[in-house]
Amino acid sequence: MRQEQSLDRRVLVIGAGMVGVSCALALQKKGYQVTVIDRLEPGEACSHGNAGVIATSSCVPLIMPGTLRKAPGWLLRRDGPLAMDWRYLPRMAGWLYRASGFTKPSDLKRISSALHALHSRAVEDHMEQARDAACADILDRTRYLHVYETAKGFEGDRAAWDLRRELGWEVAVIDGHDIPDAEPALAPIFAKGVLLEGHAVARNPGRLVKALAQDFVARQGRLYRAEVREIQPGSDGRVAVKTSGETLEAGHLVLAAGAWSAELSHSLGHRFPLVSERGYHVMFEEPEVSLRQPVMFADGKFVANTMEEGLRLAGTAEFAAIERPVSAARVDVIRKAARRFLPKLNGERTHEWMGARPSLPDTLPVIGRSHLHSGVYFAFGHGHTGLTASATTAKIIAALVAGGTLPLDIHAFRPERFPATS
Ligand SMILES: Cc1cc2nc3c(=O)[nH]c(=O)nc-3n(C[C@H](O)[C@H](O)[C@H](O)COP(=O)(O)OP(=O)(O)OC[C@H]3O[C@@H](n4cnc5c(N)ncnc54)[C@H](O)[C@@H]3O)c2cc1C
Repeated sequence: MRQEQSLDRRVLVIGAGMVGVSCALALQKKGYQVTVIDRLEPGEACSHGNAGVIATSSCVPLIMPGTLRKAPGWLLRRDGPLAMDWRYLPRMAGWLYRASGFTKPSDLKRISSALHALHSRAVEDHMEQARDAACADILDRTRYLHVYETAKGFEGDRAAWDLRRELGWEVAVIDGHDIPDAEPALAPIFAKGVLLEGHAVARNPGRLVKALAQDFVARQGRLYRAEVREIQPGSDGRVAVKTSGETLEAGHLVLAAGAWSAELSHSLGHRFPLVSERGYHVMFEEPEVSLRQPVMFADGKFVANTMEEGLRLAGTAEFAAIERPVSAARVDVIRKAARRFLPKLNGERTHEWMGARPSLPDTLPVIGRSHLHSGVYFAFGHGHTGLTASATTAKIIAALVAGGTLPLDIHAFRPERFPATS
């Protein structure tokens, strides 16, 4: 009896990225004994090298009607914002087919309202989480500037800006000649800009995950470094996780393994159409320019941000298997953009990085309890905004496991929107 009770107070979290570590901390605060399992040190996968923007306004679907029109042209251009490894096409075909089915006006509204609800409290949830872990120095509140090289480019995104306006965003459009006042480091080549309040940045997203993980361990949490081989659900709601080391057992399991989550959920009977959308960064270590706020170069979909270790230019979407080698062409696209957009940037000392965003075809993450196994919870698929949504996702997961009040309506994120095999 005592053993059963103690198992019910135990939670296993698979994945020590930004999402998994945030979930572990939130569960620990509810009094659970939590073990986080990862084959890597905390924050070494996709959460390491992102652009660091707590992008509350990034609430529109990845695939807008205009995106589908532009995609073939982007794919044909070596320096376009989109690339695809054709060996990945069998995996992508179903994803693309589903994604193209979410571009009706009613879907665009439903998806952006759900993302808006998830992101609208992100800055406050991050600040609270980082304050509790004594690492709030990594975060700064900021505005977010988007710039376009042509008025046509801006017009092409009008539907996305209209969706944000409908959700209550104040979209301040600025003319090209006023952009240097907002961001003096930019080349004078931009025709339109949009400035949005109410964002924040993590000046070092990898260090943020590590600092949160350190706080988790200091509060008696266990970090277990091993490869998860299989999840074995029990008939009584308990879950066992077979790893390259021990087999661990608990009353609850949270799957937060980023782009690897779909494969790990197969043994549970789930089939999630999750793909790896790889992105890159180039870090300019002695940049000699700094930015007042993060800047989204909207035509090419790159973000530049001043970080603790220099100036980071991050972006591009490359659909390819996670384990494929880094593409030199993608890195080149970012380097060229940096030279063009930030003419005074010193490019002498740089390093590069690639990470796999976990992307689902409707741009919405999966956050919720498995409808097949009561002790299993999902927290993955956050695509371009996993840093942004992590602290709020953690609050949702903790409320689901502990049975408290949910911070927001989570219907849109339910796992059962994707049919399972059993
Ligand atoms: C270029 C780029 C820029 C980005 N910019 C931003 C941004 O500005 N703002 C924003 O909000 N988001 C941004 N993102 C997205 C964001 O980085 C991701 O959504 C987020 O990091 C996902 O976090 P995660 O914890 O789900 O996954 P991850 O950080 O990938 O963590 C998953 C963990 O699971 C572990 N794991 C997987 N399988 C196993 C296994 N079998 N056994 C053991 N461990 C396992 C992995 O080792 C890994 O540590 C960006 C992404 C990229 C690529």
